[in-house]
Amino acid sequence: MAGSAVTSSNATALVDPDLARAADHLAARHTPSAADPARCSALGCAEAFPCLVARFAARAAVAARASRREAWTARLDAVTAGIQLTLPARV
Ligand SMILES: [Zn+2]
Repeated sequence: MAGSAVTSSNATALVDPDLARAADHLAARHTPSAADPARCSALGCAEAFPCLVARFAARAAVAARASRREAWTARLDAVTAGIQLTLPARV
């Protein structure tokens, strides 16, 4: 087990690729507004930036690379906060 070839690539391995893609998608949508950088630019959001979704996306991106437990916890947090993790049909 100590000589496993997988060990060297673990740093970039995604534990939960779907969560990572959803986090990237959310982070791309929830960015500071050009007109008012203190506000989120996403339609229907307009919270103070970083908004709840932007903060979740940053944490989920880390969790998706951390461990199954962290990824699962992030998914549960999304459900609790009402954040949809579904991706668009075409990315
Ligand atoms: Zn937002």
